Amino acid sequence: MNRLNSRHQTDFHLKSTFWLSVTAGSLVLPFAIYHLTHQNSGIGIGAMITTLSLYLVAWSCHKKTYKTVYTFVWLTPFTTLFVAYLTNKLGISGTYWCYSTVLLYYFMMSERQAWISNIVFALVNLPLAWHLLETHEAIRFSVTFLLVCVYSAIFLRVISRQYSELQKLAITDKLTGLYNRTLLQDSLTQAIHQTDRTDTVFTLISMDIDHFKEINDELGHNMGDNVLMQLGAFLKDSFRDSDKVFRTGGEEFLILVSNTDEANSIAIAEKLRRDIENLSLIPDRMVTVSIGVAGLGSAKDWKQWMKACDKNLYEAKNSGRNRVVACSVI
Ligand code: GH3
Ligand code: MG
Ligand code: MG
Repeated sequence: MNRLNSRHQTDFHLKSTFWLSVTAGSLVLPFAIYHLTHQNSGIGIGAMITTLSLYLVAWSCHKKTYKTVYTFVWLTPFTTLFVAYLTNKLGISGTYWCYSTVLLYYFMMSERQAWISNIVFALVNLPLAWHLLETHEAIRFSVTFLLVCVYSAIFLRVISRQYSELQKLAITDKLTGLYNRTLLQDSLTQAIHQTDRTDTVFTLISMDIDHFKEINDELGHNMGDNVLMQLGAFLKDSFRDSDKVFRTGGEEFLILVSNTDEANSIAIAEKLRRDIENLSLIPDRMVTVSIGVAGLGSAKDWKQWMKACDKNLYEAKNSGRNRVVACSVI
């Protein structure tokens, strides 16, 4: 399954990174000012650079241009060295910053980048702590630091897994396991853009089960559900991974066929219609479908394209059902 609308995911990530950077930057700022005005210029300058870097991250989040790699290539090495410098200068109280730094990594970068950053951070700061601190302090610091690292790693793993399961649920039709309508608009719009930019051709196939209400009425809703599930599985098997099969309504399906022109899609649809007719979805009863096919033609947007395809489907219904109709778009 494709990712759920990546726009929403990015928006969520940008917002959380924005507030995190603003908060962290604002909390470090008083320390920067304090040290700059108390002749601790090394710490003051380091803290000021940290604050400015965090505000820059917040600004790029606000402008929607933030990329986690910025943090990875700049904030990771800088904060790793700066915290080491603090520990060197201040001893145990310098190590307090390690905890918030590793947490910040997990929230501001991808999981992989955060892992690498934390390993680098630990490789620099743990040996340094053992070198500079009393043994009992170094032990306490190492254990608490590693616990924070492990807790945050586990926490993030759990959240990420739940998030991707939610994403999958949000785009999947429960009964058939096909895509629901959530990705429909984005998928068709993307296909139209791709057609404009490249030589790729896409075709839409719209399908509706004939007299489905009769199946429900005569054989029960469960049998109707069963037909939908079987047909869903059959459609999934019949198309490639690069094609997208949606259940758009009760007994209506839409397939976005990639790299296939209208003529080939008509042949595919015709074979599909025949195969479904012969599937024996219900014993001793033929289940048939009507199909509309539409290449992009002169359609300007996804709505026009779907309208053209639905018009063909409507014609297939009106001209007797169990047939494929395709004519060029509007
Ligand atoms: P046509 O050939 O014109 O398409 O006729 P039809 O009976 O297939 O179409 P109609 O729109 O009259 O009926 C569709 C039926 O699909 C009505 C509705 O109860 C049923 N339906 C919608 N969703 C589900 C579902 O999830 N499960 C079952 N079992 N039935 C459903
Ligand atoms: Mg219908
Ligand atoms: Mg129907």
